Amino acid sequence: MSIRIQKTFEALFALEEVRGLFRESLPTGFDPEEEAAFRQKIAEVKAILADLEAGTGTPKVTKIAGTIDLRTREEQSINIQPIQAAGRLTTEARKALISYGDGYSTCDACRKPFRLDKISKPGIAEFHADLAKFVNMDHARVVPGARRGFQAVTNTLVNKGDSVIVSALAHYTEFLAVENAGGVVKEVPLNAKNIVTGEATAQKIEEVKRETGKLPVLVMIDHFDYQFANEHEIKEIGKVAHQYDIPFLYNGAYTVGVMPVDGKAIGADFVVGSGHKSMASVAPSGVLAMTDEWLPKTLRTTAMVGDLTKRKFGIKEVELLGCTLMGGTLLSMMASFPTVKARTKKWEDEVKRSNYFIGRLLKITGSKVLSEYPRKHTLTKVDTTGSFDTVAQTHKRRGFYFSDELSSRGIVGEFAGATRTWKLNTYGLSEKKIRYLADAFTEVAEKHGIPVAK
Ligand SMILES: *Cc1c(COP(=O)(O)O)cnc(C)c1O
Repeated sequence: MSIRIQKTFEALFALEEVRGLFRESLPTGFDPEEEAAFRQKIAEVKAILADLEAGTGTPKVTKIAGTIDLRTREEQSINIQPIQAAGRLTTEARKALISYGDGYSTCDACRKPFRLDKISKPGIAEFHADLAKFVNMDHARVVPGARRGFQAVTNTLVNKGDSVIVSALAHYTEFLAVENAGGVVKEVPLNAKNIVTGEATAQKIEEVKRETGKLPVLVMIDHFDYQFANEHEIKEIGKVAHQYDIPFLYNGAYTVGVMPVDGKAIGADFVVGSGHKSMASVAPSGVLAMTDEWLPKTLRTTAMVGDLTKRKFGIKEVELLGCTLMGGTLLSMMASFPTVKARTKKWEDEVKRSNYFIGRLLKITGSKVLSEYPRKHTLTKVDTTGSFDTVAQTHKRRGFYFSDELSSRGIVGEFAGATRTWKLNTYGLSEKKIRYLADAFTEVAEKHGIPVAK
């Protein structure tokens, strides 16, 4: 690791220790012993900063709490891990995490009627309104991950044995949300291009109706799926769902927070997004948005009364179990939000860079793209059986030679040892990094005798 990165972490940790001294002292200030400890800590910080500036010194802190390694891959490397790219925190989010890391930190100024989305200091209520507007829906709530958004909807709409339409590329969390509610998934098959179409969705609905005698109760489809990140016919699917009067959940785990999403234009009843996948937020976080129509059902408030005490809990929402993201997770979302809003307007540039990289990869003889091409997303499934895997066949490190080559160039996040079909995500990489990445792949190919077209 670069000693400067190491010293940056050490300086941050040392300042946290200074902070700890404030937490342990009286509100009136340090006693002499604490003052001495403070001065000693400040001296340590200064020494670390001197090393940081000069790039000198040796690693002094390698663990947190004696056992946990420092995580420095985002500082040290270019990370092309498929699910991590758009969940990397902004600098503002990291500040929010430092500041609001304490347990129920959102609750300092929680006043009647005691609900997370009503808190105005910090501006959580306003953030909820902004979130709804961001995806052009009427209401939004924060949830611990897209999956909890699905769950709130399935628990509301799905009864035992009910069918739910999902795609043949649906994420496992969609299966589990349906299962959790006692429903049964019915998958829409893909066309020859691995796309879910409106027409295939209509056929599947008809099939379910024929076989079960009942219409499905929910259509839940990913705009871009997690396997190929192909774009599916989301508008047409929304239209079909409405023709059958079935509510439509738009799964924006790979879209909300990276590209513009207009829930109303799509015809969505629900829009679900993932904070830690696509909104530069701490996990678990996400958004569940809906139209006015679904509010009374999906966000119904508690009606329960204690038989003994006659207690009632006001306007707490049942599916959300009252409050959801009550600390650093939510504040990280809020702190990243201005950047996230702005970055969705630059999505075309992200796609351009994704296509630049894939174009360069395709020049390496034998490489293929399994996702639709040209790319419409930054996540891509590639097949390097005909290129990098040919080397793995005879290499003593097998497929690991490839990860070794990449990591020695500061590139991480490809599935270690995989040289056949694998996924990568270029989201957030600058022009400079994209070129570096493409050059690195070219270099590795040439080094191992794989021809590269000019
Ligand atoms: C990642 C992903 C999810 C799950 O998102 P969480 O926020 O982790 O719950 C759901 N659906 C799709 C298509 C995904 O890619």
